[in-house]
Amino acid sequence: MRLVATIALMLAAAVSWHGACAAPSGPAPTPAQSADPASPPQAGALTASDARLAGDERRTRLIVDLNGPTDKLNFRVFVLADPYRVVVDLPQIEFNISPENGKNGRGLVSAYRFGLIAQGKSRIVMDLTGPVSVDKSFLLDAIDNQPARLVIDLVKVDRSAFLRTVAAQKASDMTATPPPPQLPETLLPEVQSGLPIVVVDPGHGGIDAGATSPTGEQEKTIVLEFARKLAEKINATGRYRAVLTREGDTFITLSGRIEFARANRASLFVSIHADTLHDPFGVRGATIYTLSDKASDAESARYAEKENKADAIAGVDLTAEPGDVADILIDLTRRETKTFSNRFAKVLIDEFQAAATLNKNPHRSAGFMVLTAPDIPSVLLELGYLSSRDDVKLLTSDDWRNRATDAVVAAVDAFFAQRRQNHPSVSNAAAP
Ligand SMILES: [Zn+2]
Repeated sequence: MRLVATIALMLAAAVSWHGACAAPSGPAPTPAQSADPASPPQAGALTASDARLAGDERRTRLIVDLNGPTDKLNFRVFVLADPYRVVVDLPQIEFNISPENGKNGRGLVSAYRFGLIAQGKSRIVMDLTGPVSVDKSFLLDAIDNQPARLVIDLVKVDRSAFLRTVAAQKASDMTATPPPPQLPETLLPEVQSGLPIVVVDPGHGGIDAGATSPTGEQEKTIVLEFARKLAEKINATGRYRAVLTREGDTFITLSGRIEFARANRASLFVSIHADTLHDPFGVRGATIYTLSDKASDAESARYAEKENKADAIAGVDLTAEPGDVADILIDLTRRETKTFSNRFAKVLIDEFQAAATLNKNPHRSAGFMVLTAPDIPSVLLELGYLSSRDDVKLLTSDDWRNRATDAVVAAVDAFFAQRRQNHPSVSNAAAP
């Protein structure tokens, strides 16, 4: 299917590495040197202590202060179009920098963000005010008490020059060796457990923080805590096996989440999110979204569009993503999957009604990319609004999290009970 092709394309990402030394090809990387208390920091413990922009609308420089072993640091810089972005890929770095730092742009950069893009890999993504060329990118060694510095110089160019660079990058991608796939190691044991698999998908992660409350709470953290609790409770039933698409603060593409669920042969996929509104007056409570080619209302269409931008936010090229949810809704499997998704949404609303606050219009639908698995009933549970102080208080409280996760477990139970009634062959080894 097309999503698989998309993932393959993404994995075969550009490999034009720059850096203080050439990327070794073939032999395994040199193992980390044994710890020597006299020479901190440890190999691999790379941190960024500051990042700043300088310059103007013709030439803009990003400077990142780095601490740790930068002598063998490899990094790679590439550009992405529509929207215009510059991406800097680095080995894993701990960013001791407030995310707020990147919110105010300067010159050619309107904003930038940073974080994990995969285990062992960090990324900086700059949003641009227009097309640029990466004029220079280099690393300055630490001197005296000055940290090492990563410097990226951008100059303004026209769109056609920018697009020529994009095309040249794509051409060099064709010859690049794709990195190994990023499927987690937990894959097989889960499939083998014999229990129905529920994939719990905490939205966002790593470089993509998702929504942020006025007081700084981040969606990626709130939904991860909820998802962990939920998975724990689902597993405690002994009737199903819950698997998380991410266990920590790392990024996964939307199609990667679907592929993960399909590889695990999931019977149910629950994506966990929280939203924020510019005009939050009075709007609060949870909403359950299912997939539809036509949005149930304008607000849901806006929300799906926002959620579907997750890959672009993380600097993943979306140009090859399918935009034709309507076309693929035609086959029987999809129709059956849609029926089951709606059934789960209904039982989830019933259970949530008793346990937690629901939005006035709690079941909505729109073209959410993450819900497009053709054969896995999928819903997106939006816990509430980070723009509502009341919701933020709830979403970060243990009491609410307990009640809300209990409600989801009860809905999972009701869903599988219904399925067993209609299809006695649905496996459930430990069913009562
Ligand atoms: Zn979200």
